[in-house]
Amino acid sequence: MPIYEFLCSSCGQKISIYQQGFTAVSHSCPHCGSDKLERIFSPFAIGSKTDKQVYEEIRSDRQFERALKSNDPKAIAQWVERTSRGGEIPEECKETVGKLAKGEWPTKDGKPPGK
Ligand SMILES: [Zn+2]
Repeated sequence: MPIYEFLCSSCGQKISIYQQGFTAVSHSCPHCGSDKLERIFSPFAIGSKTDKQVYEEIRSDRQFERALKSNDPKAIAQWVERTSRGGEIPEECKETVGKLAKGEWPTKDGKPPGK
C-alpha cells in the first residue's frame, strides 16, 4: 500500500497518509484542518514489513525529520535506501529516489517541499 508524505503549508506539520489503490482522496491536516497539503514523497519500498510497522518507523524516524528539515535531498535518498534495506525500491519510486540521490527534489518545480 502506498504511503504518501505531505507537508501542511499552513502549519508546517509533516503528515503520513496511506492511500488504498489509486482513488483520489482529499486529505486535510489533522493538526490545523487546512487542506493545503503538499505531497512531498512518492510511495516507496515497504518490503516484507506490515503497513503498521512502516508507519511507526516513519513516524518515529528522527533521521527522516532531520533530512527533511535540512532540505537535503541526498539525505532523504539515503534514508529511503536505509529504510528499504533487504527490499527492492519499487520501480515507480526509483526515479524519485534517483533524483533525490542526485540532489534534486522530485517536486513539480524542483524546489524543496514546503517552500
Ligand atoms: Zn496543518
